[in-house]
Amino acid sequence: MNQTSKTNLLGMSPVQLAEYFSKLGEKPFRATQVLKWIHQHGAESFDEMTNISKSLREVLKEQAEVREPEIVSQDISKDGTRKWVIRVEGGSCVETVLIPEGDRGTLCVSSQVGCSLNCSFCSTGKQGFNRNLTAAEIIGQVRIAIKSFGPMDPANKRMVTNVVMMGMGEPLMNFERVVAAMTLMMEDNAYGLSKRRVTLSTAGVVPAMDKLGDVIDVSLAVSLHAPNDELRDVLVPINKKYPINELIDACNRYLEKLDDKRVITIEYTMMQGVNDLPEHAKQLAKLLKKVPCKLNIIPFNPFPNSGYKRPSSKAIELFKDAMHKAGIRTTVRRTRGDEIDAACGQLVGMVDDKTRRTSKLIPVVQQSDVSATSNAR
Ligand code: SAH
Repeated sequence: MNQTSKTNLLGMSPVQLAEYFSKLGEKPFRATQVLKWIHQHGAESFDEMTNISKSLREVLKEQAEVREPEIVSQDISKDGTRKWVIRVEGGSCVETVLIPEGDRGTLCVSSQVGCSLNCSFCSTGKQGFNRNLTAAEIIGQVRIAIKSFGPMDPANKRMVTNVVMMGMGEPLMNFERVVAAMTLMMEDNAYGLSKRRVTLSTAGVVPAMDKLGDVIDVSLAVSLHAPNDELRDVLVPINKKYPINELIDACNRYLEKLDDKRVITIEYTMMQGVNDLPEHAKQLAKLLKKVPCKLNIIPFNPFPNSGYKRPSSKAIELFKDAMHKAGIRTTVRRTRGDEIDAACGQLVGMVDDKTRRTSKLIPVVQQSDVSATSNAR
């Protein structure tokens, strides 16, 4: 995708679009019309925007554009999971995954090219960090997923009912752009998703969690992964800056700001012999009494040279039972899209690491042998 000097309207929030049109001497309702064309009808060009005057369309063609990131590949797994490799400006790639389940479709969206947090068990972290995605590149992933089913009509829009910011990157390290994109996800004139169906997942950037609660109302998931600081310092290094007690306090402050009763989703990637022992369950149960939450156990998804193993199903069940007995609502995340490497922590974009944590480009390794595999467009 080539950089152009035109203004990309794709990632603009309703307020930004209104400002843009007011500078053109246009009334605010033009912004709403264009917003609907872009996000409700999936318009690719200004010529499609038939309720906009021809002269204004000409002006827009001159100075603006609606530019999505480029799709490199689309894989569809046997269980219906779809994965896109998306090339963003600068040449790096990120991944987006859609997980259908009954009448729900959960889209897992990336927020950064790579990640700077370096969690020890996450393949994205191993690739280093390149840059933040723009709001257009983030919301573009939602538009791409819906359009993969055909025209952007209400039926196809229902293929994406939930969005989780659980793809590549730490969303709270890309605060402004992630908030702009999530605003569009929930905006009635755009995607109209409810605040309960848009979830941001964070490794625990405490000051940004506080800021988030001040500017937007979305559901929150926290990647805990360990019941004590000693272990969490190793698995999630940002814990050294914001230890568990500060994180739990921030969760409670976040919940207090919401105007309805919700709980935090606590994510716990389970690794054999690392955080899956009875003593961990005991510590975790005690800790989770301190915040209204539900626990989501993610069995570790292996990747080459990770150094970790997924525990046996038996060990996971025992841990889950222990949590249930302690009164903690617990679910185990089912692994989806396995054969197209679409599971959590298996997302391998192509990151030109600016931190030099890795010395070379990690190639995209998505060739799957699934018969349903297709190339988009
Ligand atoms: N930076 C955000 C979003 C990351 S991805 C965060 O940390 O929450 C979403 C979840 O997948 C996180 O809980 C992350 O810790 C988890 N994850 C990462 N690698 C994994 C792996 N190999 N197996 C299972 N879960 C993993």
